[in-house]
Amino acid sequence: MLVLLKRGVSEATAGDLATRLRMFGLSVHRTDHGGQVRLGAVGEGGGVDWDRVRTWPEIESVEHIPVPFKLVSRVYQPHDTVISVGRCAIGSRQLAIMAGPCSVEGEEQAFTIAGAVARAGATILRGGAYKPRTSPYSFQGLGEEGLKLLRRAADAHGLGVVSEVMDTQQVSLVARYADILQVGARNMQNYSLLREVGHAEKPVLLKRGLAATIEEWLMSAEHILSQGNAQVILCERGIRTFETYTRNTLDLNAIPVVKELSHLPVIVDPSHGTGIRNKVAAMARASIAAGADGLIVEVHHDPDHALSDGAQSLYPEQFDALVGQIRTIASVLGRQV
Ligand code: PEP
Ligand code: MN
Repeated sequence: MLVLLKRGVSEATAGDLATRLRMFGLSVHRTDHGGQVRLGAVGEGGGVDWDRVRTWPEIESVEHIPVPFKLVSRVYQPHDTVISVGRCAIGSRQLAIMAGPCSVEGEEQAFTIAGAVARAGATILRGGAYKPRTSPYSFQGLGEEGLKLLRRAADAHGLGVVSEVMDTQQVSLVARYADILQVGARNMQNYSLLREVGHAEKPVLLKRGLAATIEEWLMSAEHILSQGNAQVILCERGIRTFETYTRNTLDLNAIPVVKELSHLPVIVDPSHGTGIRNKVAAMARASIAAGADGLIVEVHHDPDHALSDGAQSLYPEQFDALVGQIRTIASVLGRQV
């Protein structure tokens, strides 16, 4: 339920009302909008007499939230969530440009790519240290050593860091080095992991599952918000369809659909969305034109020898040219890089 308090109620009263609602066994979250306190009361709460709650003097209205993803919805929070990471305000008019290798492979690779993407205009360095690979015989990532390299390379160029966390035991370790915890497509419905990152004090980049509907994806975000972490960035990365000419089918419909349903920022990964280097720029441009709040792009200076996803990684010069085009598209939309 969405409980709107009367304008001008004191902080003490707002806190007291939240406590009274919690006494019904509900979990109560708060967002302020237009000078008004909005309480999202979620959970079982089957026995609550809402008609009675409506009569409490400090309460303006009580509404049902007509979607299953409550805290994620625009009904609960009408204004856009903006997440600050270093110089980047994700979900604001400024587009978030995240780029880097699929996997961190070594010091020289990490520093070379970090320098290149920073010069091109990225503000966040991506790179996996724990890699979810289809084959157990493929490169699995450098682990903590990779996180250290990624952090040093990012710091040397004034970038933030996003890196994948594959299981619950890795959360505190990855959070020590990364500014944003990435939950990968394969883990979108790993509810223990969602719960764990929901307790972390770092933003979470939640990728859409390979075969997840938009509603399932938003419900996964709800798991994170329900644990108290409201800093969730959604990432469309393509879904599996019958099409075989591309690795995945990038669902650009998801951008306007999610922007309407949710206040959370939405970014696009055109690298996994296409799987093919020479298709990445077109879909990156289309994503921004469709209203995405940013991009996460795989870049590698020597993709033929990359340990993962070389075929979909842009050369640094291609990434640089792409960011230039994104700047032009952004200006038409009243946004900026
Ligand atoms: C990645 O970002 O390298 C990755 C493995 O992404 P996804 O989870 O979308 O496949
Ligand atoms: Mn990859």
